[in-house]
Amino acid sequence: MENQWQQFVEFIKPRCSKAEFQNWIAPVQYIKSNNQDTVVVPNIFVKEYLLDNYKDILIVFFPSDKKGNPVINFSIKQNKIIKKAPSAEKKPKKKAEFQQDIVFNISYTFDNFIEGPSNQFIKSAAQGVASRPGKSYNPLFIHGGVGLGKTHLLHGIGHHIVQNLKNKRIHCITTEAFINDLVYHLRNKSVDRMKKYYRTLDVLLVDDIQFLQNRLNFEEEFCNMFESLINQNKQIVITSDKPPGQLKLSERMIARMEWGLVAQMGTPDLETRVAILQYKAESMKLTLSNDIAFYIAEHIYNNVRQLEGAINRLSAYCRLMHLKPTQDVVDSTLSEMFQSPICSKISVDRIIYSVASMFNVRENDLRGTSRAKEIAFPRQIAMYLAKELLGDSLMKIASAFGGKTHSTLLHAWKKISLRLESDEILKRKVQITKQSIEG
Ligand code: ADP
Ligand code: MG
Repeated sequence: MENQWQQFVEFIKPRCSKAEFQNWIAPVQYIKSNNQDTVVVPNIFVKEYLLDNYKDILIVFFPSDKKGNPVINFSIKQNKIIKKAPSAEKKPKKKAEFQQDIVFNISYTFDNFIEGPSNQFIKSAAQGVASRPGKSYNPLFIHGGVGLGKTHLLHGIGHHIVQNLKNKRIHCITTEAFINDLVYHLRNKSVDRMKKYYRTLDVLLVDDIQFLQNRLNFEEEFCNMFESLINQNKQIVITSDKPPGQLKLSERMIARMEWGLVAQMGTPDLETRVAILQYKAESMKLTLSNDIAFYIAEHIYNNVRQLEGAINRLSAYCRLMHLKPTQDVVDSTLSEMFQSPICSKISVDRIIYSVASMFNVRENDLRGTSRAKEIAFPRQIAMYLAKELLGDSLMKIASAFGGKTHSTLLHAWKKISLRLESDEILKRKVQITKQSIEG
């Protein structure tokens, strides 16, 4: 093949959105050489995005390995430049070496981030950090399962700072890219320069810190960098798939990450999932009725990325076949993405039963209206657990507590969530109750 990348680009261009093309495809260069062709990406995000989203198409144009993954020789832009001209420019300028063209995903802004009870708190924390970096929560540690919007919020912070605080030096990096950088500088005996560079930053955004696990040497370097930034009141934001305490990292590192605010990105409840679907559908000019949106949201419930995938697929199918998204169309296009209904034995009744026995109150009191502290507090715990453990709509859960409102439930959830961050004894009690509910 003459130029596999070019062929891929010609194929994909008419098949993806303009924004997608501008953001992810156009910045990529293809370098042909005698022994190995290279696909040069501006940063690691672009590489990951291409492999995540276009794997099936890339293997049509590029060879694939046994696992069906495309075999492509990727290279990150700035490293390439340095490697290529070692003699001409022995000491590359500090700037050229690290200055990544930070490609924040253009759609990952605060405005495009749909709020709901599962992410309101964390979004406002992110906005706080973005408007006053280094002055509110530092570090801000965002954790949660895959596809829930952690990277989206991280880039949201980046966009906001780049647009509003132009004099701030900001660097956004995946943990993998950080390690690659470090390896490169170790090899070139230029770690000091790298350190110096990091120390001049005002804001450091680090995605997916879990990849630092089991990388002992890198962890120590990272920890040093981290401390020196924090000591100068420079803002750090970290994302992770687990809370700090559950990461296999040194105690020192975990303690540092717990210094500031640790917040969890929850799984969106039904109403939020519907809002996200409607929002994404609208942006693709797909008219989605409320019923259909609810129908999809009821069947895809633990990952926003999958919701997005569903809308993409549905929209493509409807456009090609000139169809409207009815339930039949949804069934035939999306059924394989549907998750089995949440078939757990967990119910509000069961939660009330377990909380009542743990906290020594009567079940009826938990459903009742007494405001006495000995009762109201366990009731709030039961509400917290119900929201955490049930995938149901908030209104439905609230009404199962003897007709409480959705805002009472939310209030309870927020209060207990906050308390759990500092109250170890309560945390353990809640943990045990949870086990008894699930057991
Ligand atoms: P994570 O980093 O937690 O794995 P991402 O940030 O990559 O998840 O999010 C996955 C996809 O879902 C992204 O395309 C993101 O824009 C979208 N997404 C997640 N949460 C929301 C939300 N609350 N509103 C709108 N889009 C969202
Ligand atoms: Mg992510």
